[in-house]
Amino acid sequence: ADGRVYNFSPGPSTMPLEVLEEVQRELVNYKGSGMSVMEMSHRSKEFMAIAAEAEQNLRDVFAVPSDYKVLMMQGGASLQFSAVVLNMLGTKSKADYLVTGQWGEKAHKECNKYGTGQLACNTKSSKFTTIPAKAEWKLDPEAAFVHYCANETINGVEFSYTPDVGSVPLVADMSSNLGSRPIDVGKHAYIYAGLHKNLGPAGMAVGFLRPDFADGSKELKICPTYCSFKTTCDNSSMYNTPACFTMYVMGEYLKYTKRVGGLSYWAEQSDKKSELVYGVIDGSDGFYQSAVEKSARSRINIPFTIRGGDEALERKFLDEAKKHKLYSLAGHMSVGACRASLYNGMPLEGVATLTDFMKCFMDENR
Ligand code: PMP
Repeated sequence: ADGRVYNFSPGPSTMPLEVLEEVQRELVNYKGSGMSVMEMSHRSKEFMAIAAEAEQNLRDVFAVPSDYKVLMMQGGASLQFSAVVLNMLGTKSKADYLVTGQWGEKAHKECNKYGTGQLACNTKSSKFTTIPAKAEWKLDPEAAFVHYCANETINGVEFSYTPDVGSVPLVADMSSNLGSRPIDVGKHAYIYAGLHKNLGPAGMAVGFLRPDFADGSKELKICPTYCSFKTTCDNSSMYNTPACFTMYVMGEYLKYTKRVGGLSYWAEQSDKKSELVYGVIDGSDGFYQSAVEKSARSRINIPFTIRGGDEALERKFLDEAKKHKLYSLAGHMSVGACRASLYNGMPLEGVATLTDFMKCFMDENR
């Protein structure tokens, strides 16, 4: 592990060293099978056991109700933007989107390929820095579903509650905060997340699906077989060759999550880590600034500017940070500035190193 840095990447992102080391130990000869998981048939008994255990661990860790389906699909969260619509629109033509950031905006755009994505709210004009109160949402009782993004990775806006949308099925993109706190799966018709933040390497998405959406009754005719929730469920997420190695690493990460105390442990860590960073921002007298309204601040992705968006100074910050082993702190290419992503793999001491550096940098560059 020599030479590892504190990696604040928004995803793919840092993972617990223990998980990487376990994968390394098992890499070339998995449990005496004489081969790597990378080399195994997905129909082998070893791999079937890995997949079944991974699914069970998803169920355990996320307290998935027993009648819900667990889906493991390739293509990441972006493909889920389309899969949601292709499997959930049914005979309806409209769906509602609560757009509070760039990922929700993309999901909404995808809906318009197959139906009508309605904007129940859209905070783009105020640069995605708030979550409007429910009274301001324009919810259509005839919508096939309401979609929200629980944590906007680029803009740093996080729902601290499950939106109440009445009887319309609720769909959540939890790509960047799934695993960071306990969730109420039963309040959702579908929750999905790309893997590469708190669950493992890139290449897959997981989904928790209410059973009435697993029977194909609301699937559009044009839905590609690979995107079909029914096909995925009927084949236990093995309709085709899955992202085997990614699935295996996810399983190891989930086992680790169980060992450290599950989601309540990660929730505690997320609170502590984000409080450290926001503490420095708020105590900096405007040297560091977070544009997001306090009630909507993300515990996971913290975008910030330096001295009112001084780009030269932000570049200097990013360069000097590396001397302290603090990497990948640049903001998303669409917004610039800085961003610290605090996924589960980022230890508290990494965040303390960051906040110490932020304080020193401020003292030297005020
Ligand atoms: N939704 C959110 C909240 C994300 O953060 C991302 C990726 N950063 C996506 C969707 C898209 O995921 P993918 O790259 O896996 O398609």
